[in-house]
Amino acid sequence: MAKIQTPQPVRGTQDIFGEDQERFSHVVETFERVRRLYGFKGVEMPVFEPTAVFARSLGETTDVVSKEMYSFEDRGGDSLTLRPEFTAGICRAFLSNGWQQHVPLKLSAHGPLFRYERPQKGRYRQFHQLDAEIIGAGEAAADVELLCFADQLLKELGIDQGVTLQLNTLGDAESRDAWRDALVEHFRAHRAELSEDSQDRLERNPLRILDSKERQDRPIADSAPDIDAYLSSEAKEFFAQVTEGLDACGVAWTRNSRLVRGLDYYRHTAFEFVTDRLGAQGTVLAGGRYDGLMESLGGPHTPAVGWAAGIERLGMLLEEPKVAGTDAIFIPLGDGCETAAMKIMAELRRSGISCEMAYKGNMKKRMQKANAAGAAHVVIIGENELANGVAAVKNLATGDQREIVLDGLAEALTA
Ligand code: ATP
Ligand code: MG
Repeated sequence: MAKIQTPQPVRGTQDIFGEDQERFSHVVETFERVRRLYGFKGVEMPVFEPTAVFARSLGETTDVVSKEMYSFEDRGGDSLTLRPEFTAGICRAFLSNGWQQHVPLKLSAHGPLFRYERPQKGRYRQFHQLDAEIIGAGEAAADVELLCFADQLLKELGIDQGVTLQLNTLGDAESRDAWRDALVEHFRAHRAELSEDSQDRLERNPLRILDSKERQDRPIADSAPDIDAYLSSEAKEFFAQVTEGLDACGVAWTRNSRLVRGLDYYRHTAFEFVTDRLGAQGTVLAGGRYDGLMESLGGPHTPAVGWAAGIERLGMLLEEPKVAGTDAIFIPLGDGCETAAMKIMAELRRSGISCEMAYKGNMKKRMQKANAAGAAHVVIIGENELANGVAAVKNLATGDQREIVLDGLAEALTA
């Protein structure tokens, strides 16, 4: 018979296990805790949407839509796309469900996203994001609240050291258009010196040249005009309110006038939390204000602001995760002891004490399992002990071993 080949994982996907999984859940649990402090409601979203949801809102010319989407026809002939981001789907849901009645609506989500990219450290084809959005709020206070949330999340994860909040404004539609014209004029004058990618961007998405990583583009990008000269007084005032709010809340930031976001729908505030600890994949959390997005989906004008953060990238920045060890490892020795131990363990777990059984191997092997599990105690249930209604409990930290009556086990294990 022909040998069956074991299947390979899809390129750019990960099977997250062990310490990486501990990091992953720690990031998600911290996010779930902090988002409640800020009154963000959770939302569970479909993993796929009609392709038009992303094509219309992100803009046909963006990298995501033109090169990175996983789109396919389903059996009914509809064009669907695996979500490459949360924002567009959440806006679609806002419009489909008539959530206008809830504005300002603070939503949070987390889960897998899909982009056809070149896989490398911190960059995958299936990756995971935390996402936070405030929909139906045009006030700078919403931007401030959202950024405070991001800042507190990074602090609670213990990764704020070496991570900088870079902030910019893209102005209102009027400022942005005027600036765009000035940029195009500047880049056209240096067209021949630009990289091939940037020459292409000049026609499709000229703002993107500003944050080009190509060496030959840098002098031209760095000498391009700032938006400041083109900001309307409203746009200036809005940005001032955001920065004053951040200063009042103790959120550190720096201005990066070259920062633009890849997607067409951004207005006013744009930001990234950046580190140099992850090589080229240095952006851990990014977002901004997207007042124009709802209209691109056919909805009424609805100002909104949001951010997304890569769970894998945040996880990589964590210190060694502290794995919560189990309270006790049970070692049954002798006839009938395994069932008796199982019964005792079931009761302990119901009262919130974690335990596991080491039922295989000699005593040495089982003690090794207890140490590897980071257990606080080992509980030995032997025939003699059972007959006397006791268990031998060893405290692994102190080495101290005592006989404990079974009724007193819960207390002894939590002491
Ligand atoms: P990049 O410049 O790194 O491609 P981006 O601008 O495409 O990022 P966003 O769409 O703003 O990224 O997504 C927000 C965050 O999601 C990023 O800051 C990053 O932490 C994470 N992220 C984006 N793409 C990937 C990916 N392919 N793999 C892992 N994480 C990702
Ligand atoms: Mg990208």
